[in-house]
Amino acid sequence: MPGKICVVGSINMDLVVRAPRFPRPGATVLGGVFETYPGGKGANQAVAASRMGAQVTLVGCLGGDDEGSRMRGVLAADGLDIHHVRTCPEARTGVAVITVVPGGENTIVVAPGANAALSPADVDAAAGAIQAANMLLLQGEITSEANQSAIEVARRAEVPVLLNAGPAENVSPDLLAGVGLLVVNRGEAATLLGLTEEVPATGLARRLAGLGPESVVVTLGEEGALYFDGTDLVTMEAFPVDPVDATGAGDAFVGALAVLRVEGARVRDALRAACAAGALATRIVGANPSLPPREQVEKLLAGSRS
Ligand code: ADP
Repeated sequence: MPGKICVVGSINMDLVVRAPRFPRPGATVLGGVFETYPGGKGANQAVAASRMGAQVTLVGCLGGDDEGSRMRGVLAADGLDIHHVRTCPEARTGVAVITVVPGGENTIVVAPGANAALSPADVDAAAGAIQAANMLLLQGEITSEANQSAIEVARRAEVPVLLNAGPAENVSPDLLAGVGLLVVNRGEAATLLGLTEEVPATGLARRLAGLGPESVVVTLGEEGALYFDGTDLVTMEAFPVDPVDATGAGDAFVGALAVLRVEGARVRDALRAACAAGALATRIVGANPSLPPREQVEKLLAGSRS
């Protein structure tokens, strides 16, 4: 039986331009190819989990525009249950403006649009999908009120919650106590902790665990990831790749981690599969096109020693 995952989160259209370098404030840079891709952390993680073999329900909001119709088609074609994706006729579909430079680094500005309209009432309407899931996945691209409602529904039904707290400025620290697994990158960790100084990754994980989640994963880009649950510390090296676009690496990582944990894999094995998925996602431009199918992840795992 495939694991069941419910994602309550954002759906965006990604507007991606490749550029030779990032512009300085006030400057203009001539870019290269422009593409649009389905995106949004919620939708990306839902697709990532689905491609890893889970049955996935996505709860979210789209605008009443052409992008909304296009996204609906794309998400359904990827096998997601989108019965709880509402169209807000008065809103525009969320948009992410993404610049990617050689080497794969990016900057992202998100206009939330319809994602901001995802309300606690929408979450309550989808309570059955959350209760039926083996894990609930949340991110920081919807309101903390909607996330809080989803955590409440999951808590009452004893469904474990994974919160990927990005962007961290949009995540209320109050949410963290209701979370089973908190996943953040280095920058998000620093924001949640209010740090201005550099702290080693193990220190970040230990301090984050003090904010209330049962366990913490800090993702470290090309340095891999680490897990801490208050007792055990597990570190995992990254898989070596030549990255072309880091967009979606974190989402691929979260999707794979969630699916492996739901299937009962040990933390170390789940972390390793998640690092493989994250590495694979850096090799293709765009988030959605780069989220790897399970066979690719397993092939990479089989080709390297654990
Ligand atoms: P985010 O995309 O959320 O900023 P990271 O950059 O930490 O998160 O990437 C998530 C995971 O993807 C990392 O933990 C790592 O396993 C993998 N990954 C990301 N960038 C690279 C890279 N350059 N080489 C190998 N693996 C990578």
